[in-house]
Amino acid sequence: MKKLLHILITLTSFTAAAQDSSDKITLVIHGGAGTITRANMSPEREKAYREVLNIALQTGYNVLKQGGTSVQAVEATIHIMEDSPLFNAGKGAVFTNEGKNELDASIMEGKTMKAGAVAGVTNIRNPISAAIAVMEKSEHVMMAGKGAEKFAKEQGLKIVDPSYFYTEARYKALLKAKESEKTELDHDAKEKVIKKNQKTGALKPDDLIFTEGRKFGTVGCVALDKFGNLAAGTSTGGMTNKKYGRTGDAPIIGAGTYANNATCAVSATGHGEFFIRSVVAHDIAALMEYKGLSVKEAADEVVMKKLVERGGEGGVIALDKNGNIAMPFNSEGMYRGYIKSDGKSEVLIYKD
Ligand code: ASP
Repeated sequence: MKKLLHILITLTSFTAAAQDSSDKITLVIHGGAGTITRANMSPEREKAYREVLNIALQTGYNVLKQGGTSVQAVEATIHIMEDSPLFNAGKGAVFTNEGKNELDASIMEGKTMKAGAVAGVTNIRNPISAAIAVMEKSEHVMMAGKGAEKFAKEQGLKIVDPSYFYTEARYKALLKAKESEKTELDHDAKEKVIKKNQKTGALKPDDLIFTEGRKFGTVGCVALDKFGNLAAGTSTGGMTNKKYGRTGDAPIIGAGTYANNATCAVSATGHGEFFIRSVVAHDIAALMEYKGLSVKEAADEVVMKKLVERGGEGGVIALDKNGNIAMPFNSEGMYRGYIKSDGKSEVLIYKD
């Protein structure tokens, strides 16, 4: 009897300890990858990015610190970035070839492995919340276009006029992208010109236009809550000048977003077509699951090797159940940051 009681007490305290991982709460964010260099960034612009990234980190951290779940923390964090015109998500979404804003978002919860996503929505102010509603309030994983909008409205989410997403900077970027398309269809060739000119230092304004265009300003967040549960979320306007209902990796579970308590939570940013074909987020989790790699080894393997070999530009943020972080990117820069249980945070932009 005594022995049984002892086993019972040990088991209870073990469960209690397993349920409270307050010392491990962690939140990681990205605000997109691409040609982000010191040379094409003004101090004012850098300050503005750092400010929003810090607010986003602090917002998510407060949710986790107050005992919120990782899904709640991801939602609150992504709202900050969706509401900022600086990022290609929500308010700052890029324009399609037809001059519209079509937004994608997804969420995945590591404990239940439940997931939700929306694609090609035009009037939902915070697409990440629509993705969460799909996960929590419907029996589906992904809803697209008008149906997703109808569902979001029924769920009482904030609906806006599509003009809410207009920003002058993004509209100009579309016009420039269209211009370069007329004169230059082969992006690879154009890139080679840029690289050559960068060597000689003779960078023409036209080259810079294209360089600016290669920014993937998608936002993402991965979090670990005090219950030891992971979640990952991603939200985007896609790519400037995208055509005919094009959908990227951001709303595709396994490509742009993935979470599994047994391995890791991942959110990606980059050239979506490559990320879909390489099933990037799930591939990282699979390397951990089947090959026993650490989160850093797995994320590096996929982003710095596999994607590079296949020509896929971008990066990911990844987090495991012990709070270990990886933030690899194969582009010139990636807006990124993390905050740990002690409240210490760091925001990074460039490679060095
Ligand atoms: N991955 C996104 C897409 O292809 C773009 C981005 O990361 O900014 O739609």
